[in-house]
Amino acid sequence: MRFMYFFDTKLKRYTMYGKRMLHPAESGKYQEGISAVRQDDVNIWFYTKNGRTIAIDSGHLDHKGASEMIRHLGIEPDNIRHVLLTHSDVDHCGGVDKNAKKKLFPNAELYLGRGEEVYFDGAFCRMIKAGIPLKNPVRLDAYNTVSNGEILHLNGIQVEVIEVPGHTAGHVCYLVDDTVLFSGDCLAVNAMGGYSLFEFFTQNPVLNKKSLQILKNRIEHSNVKVVCTGHSGIWDYSPKIFAHIDESAKSSWGKPFDITAPKSIRG
Ligand SMILES: [Zn+2]
Repeated sequence: MRFMYFFDTKLKRYTMYGKRMLHPAESGKYQEGISAVRQDDVNIWFYTKNGRTIAIDSGHLDHKGASEMIRHLGIEPDNIRHVLLTHSDVDHCGGVDKNAKKKLFPNAELYLGRGEEVYFDGAFCRMIKAGIPLKNPVRLDAYNTVSNGEILHLNGIQVEVIEVPGHTAGHVCYLVDDTVLFSGDCLAVNAMGGYSLFEFFTQNPVLNKKSLQILKNRIEHSNVKVVCTGHSGIWDYSPKIFAHIDESAKSSWGKPFDITAPKSIRG
């Protein structure tokens, strides 16, 4: 069932128009060795230290101009050896799907939370909309599963895995060199601070909120300076990032979540 890819690449821009829910960072270089590529509504993140770069997530399936956008930042996609996937949704794993026409990071090892495997045999639904069960169509070639508290050492870069289930069954965040948190899709952030991600996209909102409490406690004991989100851009860390995690983010035409977000996810 490839409907979720069809939704992601063809329909999402119409259903999201004017709602101002999603506000990814513009493509470019940021502080602490961070670079971002914006693919419409989502970011692929890169972290570079001592000339070595890892990627966090891989964006949409066969996104037009994807490799060129990365090269534009001085990063060669073929040289990426490690891709940390926060979860298995189409907008985060599409770039490395084994059925992509052209894999974005052909020479990379993939890392994914062990809880995400439930989606891959097709038995577990990603969401049910209008009574219709929607399955995750992503399929990966070889990948490594990671679990809570695991520390990876990738070319001199230290990565701690923090399981944050809720948005999906096995969603994880990555704490890199104890200074940068790649939060994937558990948080939505606006000028008021961070909220639990929109319920429409979240498999289990109650569990997501519970997981965010645990994440908050972990991050308060870290040296995190920067938080890079899936759809809300990049933020300097402050306690505000977790200020509203007991509430789900909401957005409507009358009351947009982020008035500074683009009207169109293509814009
Ligand atoms: Zn996403």
